[in-house]
Amino acid sequence: MRILVIEDEKKIASFIKRGLTEQNYTVDVAGDGEDGLYLAEINPYDLIVLDIMLPGKDGFAVCQTLRRQNITTPILMLTARDDLRDKVFGLDSGADDYLTKPFAFAEFLARVRVLLRRHGGNKSTTLRVADLELDQLTHQVSRAGKSIDLTPTEYALLEYLMLNHGQVVTRTMLSEHVWNQDFDSFSNVINVYVNYVRKKVDADFDVKLIHSVRGAGYMLKE
Ligand code: CA
Repeated sequence: MRILVIEDEKKIASFIKRGLTEQNYTVDVAGDGEDGLYLAEINPYDLIVLDIMLPGKDGFAVCQTLRRQNITTPILMLTARDDLRDKVFGLDSGADDYLTKPFAFAEFLARVRVLLRRHGGNKSTTLRVADLELDQLTHQVSRAGKSIDLTPTEYALLEYLMLNHGQVVTRTMLSEHVWNQDFDSFSNVINVYVNYVRKKVDADFDVKLIHSVRGAGYMLKE
């Protein structure tokens, strides 16, 4: 899943990016409100982490602008002060949750997971399709009880297919949710990675779960 971090403090932004990347999320960073707004308008993010104190357009303004454009991506606001007015104004601006800096990364991650689950209408942290299981907390993946080792990109790809199981997932959707802004859309990297995942998930089993949909993309189904 792909997350946009809008944060002008470089140290905090790179700390968050590193931590989220380690958890197999795809991350883009914007250093101010204008850039953040631009990225959020052109890419379908699964979550936005939004600092309030930003140069130029602040977090409240970014949040209000996105909501006015009916962009419903969950927003986790970061507030510098433990100020009730900031929290209330943040939530009233359309944020889904807030966290006061400095925060423990474990709590930050837990809130990220809650917002992603809530948005996906999913209460459980384990995704299951047939005998394939993916644990979003531990990142363990198994099929028929047999553990499968995936790289971070392979994991992100399989997680996205599982979240959308039974539906066609286009290459565009994969490029937008599994890869970040540096992705070169002319490369055949998606096919290459789908083949890697297929080898690990399907090769040893008679029942194939990952199907190609001619001219459209892929579908994970029983
Ligand atoms: Ca800031």
